[in-house]
Amino acid sequence: MLAWNLEKDLSSLSTEALIAELAKRQQTVGVRPAVVEENFQKQGRNIENLRYDNYLRGLEAEQTSGEAPCPVCKTMAKIRVKNRARTIYTLSGGHKFRRHYHYCGSCEKGFYPLDRKLELREKGEVSEALEKRLIDFSVNEPYAEAAERIALRYGLEVSTNLLRCVRERVGSDTVSVAGVALHEELVTNRPVAQRLSVQTDGCMLPPLDRWKEAKLVVVLREDCHLRGSKSSKGTTMEMRYAAR
Ligand SMILES: [Zn+2]
Repeated sequence: MLAWNLEKDLSSLSTEALIAELAKRQQTVGVRPAVVEENFQKQGRNIENLRYDNYLRGLEAEQTSGEAPCPVCKTMAKIRVKNRARTIYTLSGGHKFRRHYHYCGSCEKGFYPLDRKLELREKGEVSEALEKRLIDFSVNEPYAEAAERIALRYGLEVSTNLLRCVRERVGSDTVSVAGVALHEELVTNRPVAQRLSVQTDGCMLPPLDRWKEAKLVVVLREDCHLRGSKSSKGTTMEMRYAAR
């Protein structure tokens, strides 16, 4: 009964009042400013983690116990397994949730409606928002350094193996997309380049039968290139390669 009363009292407070009350409880006396700042960040992440857990609990409760439409053929599919656990990592840390597994007899394929609602990949452990950040770091530097920078920036402990898996999964998904569709997605809403710069180079490679020249072509938009000076060669933000 005491817990119920506390819950009722807290729920009657505004979000601003709750945040103000929380701020009053931060221990700062005798603590170095840098540590205070780090602690505030950590507490913020803990709250985000609880909020995301609550979000998941709500979605779990909303799951149908009946049939769900197959994402491919729209046939209503029954539940085959209830409450199968999955762990995911988001910007706020790790979360475990349970979802129902449905099976479509027409397609002979199973699916998890809640996974689709959360827009999760079939395989893998990270949310879309976290995946973007992991990719951003892991394509530009070695995995170990990327893991260190992610820990510093977001307070998240990620393994080099996780970074490798995410990068390989996103890479293979990108390659499997039809080239034309990928090109259209990349160029949508972009103005036509006023000038393109094309550079080529080649080198001789020893294949099985005889030496052959491998060609590499790089194409870049002028508006994606910052000119260099006598001492620097400039910076290119975006370019495309073709090799043969
Ligand atoms: Zn189906």
